[in-house]
Amino acid sequence: MLNESIYNISPILFQNFIISTYGKKVFKQRYGDVYYHFFEEYIKEEKSNIAKEKENQLIELRSLIEHAKKYSPYYASTLKNIEAIKIKNIDDIKKIPIIEKEELRQNIKSIYTTANRNTIKSFTGGTTGKSLEVYFTQNDFQKRMAYLDSFKYKCGINNIFLSKKATFSGRSFAKGFFQKNSNIYWRFNSAYNQRLYSTFDMQEENLRYYISDLNDYKPEIINGFVSAIYQLAKYVLDNNINLVFTPKAIFTTSETLLSFHRDAIQSAFSCKVFNQYASAEGAPFITECVAGKLHYRMDTGVIETNETGEMLVTSFTTYGTPLIRYNIGDRITFAKNDGYSLCECGSCHPIVESIDGRAVDYLFSPEKGKVSLSHLADVIKGIPNSIKEVQFIQNNIDEIEIHLNVDKKQYTAQDEKKIIESMTYRFGRNMFFTIKLADRIERTRGGKFVLIKNNLIKIIEKS
Ligand SMILES: [Zn+2]
Repeated sequence: MLNESIYNISPILFQNFIISTYGKKVFKQRYGDVYYHFFEEYIKEEKSNIAKEKENQLIELRSLIEHAKKYSPYYASTLKNIEAIKIKNIDDIKKIPIIEKEELRQNIKSIYTTANRNTIKSFTGGTTGKSLEVYFTQNDFQKRMAYLDSFKYKCGINNIFLSKKATFSGRSFAKGFFQKNSNIYWRFNSAYNQRLYSTFDMQEENLRYYISDLNDYKPEIINGFVSAIYQLAKYVLDNNINLVFTPKAIFTTSETLLSFHRDAIQSAFSCKVFNQYASAEGAPFITECVAGKLHYRMDTGVIETNETGEMLVTSFTTYGTPLIRYNIGDRITFAKNDGYSLCECGSCHPIVESIDGRAVDYLFSPEKGKVSLSHLADVIKGIPNSIKEVQFIQNNIDEIEIHLNVDKKQYTAQDEKKIIESMTYRFGRNMFFTIKLADRIERTRGGKFVLIKNNLIKIIEKS
């Protein structure tokens, strides 16, 4: 890791050097022989033959089960009655017990298969705020990078290393002694040709510096948190700012991409957004294709959904910390009747209708039941331009707090009325709404924007 105390007293240019040195080390871990081998494989591969895809998936599944039983004490015990060879088709996976998030967390030490040496750590936040540490083998990790880069290749990024990348993710590096009085909220990682923009300093008054630097840097790829890229897009649109560059592609991660996010981002940057799902735990990938469809990539794992749409994931790149029928706490909706029909893009991998966010991403109305993230997206779509950020918090069964960050010069009582009307339409006449104005909506410690805070769930969980 970076040496924080040296970093904090270094001038910004030297911080770039420190980041790049560290970047070089990470680069070697991520991009080695395994990466190059699989990248070549993945970009060549045809994904049109469903019989072949199913056969490969079965082989991968058996191999993961065998490995887990052999090297993970936890799975040696839970899978003792499962014989990999007797898994005759993917549906047989149902014979394997499901592992819940809390169970994984409590047993994590006996789930790991490898010693901590030569492994890559990854931390996940988790919905309850308790963090979880998983280990990837170097192989797993390089395969994952190869897969992601082959996905980007298919979206038109021929050379990921040479392309100028702008990344907005939850790391705080715009700090230290020399940061005071400076408007430079980014650092440069020369090892990966990547400018890292701090998402922790994106207060309204700083956004003009971000935009002017982007105009100067002219990135070919923009990566990162949905909320951060959306915030910039909205700023560009609301202020009629002229961007002097057009990226080749924008890849969003980590937060649920809703239609209003996509519309604003594509319109501000005149560039297509590609959505993807890949958790820090190492879940199988869901990626958006050139035809605009989300595919469940069955060559990276098995995704099942339970009756409430929660995903049970089995991932082929988790040889360090095997995930087998793990309830990851995120929800998706498969397209109806997909029947593995061929997509316009040529892939037979099943189509996912939507990635619906975390299982806890809903509010509750006694009259109308659960109101999910996608329904709230419709409310947000119609809200006036004077509102910059919105967050919904439910502490009581019959009351929702609506936190708003507004442009005070434009915001009127009429705007407030409009939001309450559309919320009443969604939640019914018996729900109370309280509007609270804030200068900025707080992000999580990891820098993520949470649109919905349902504190009722926490109350139920605790009781
Ligand atoms: Zn497709």
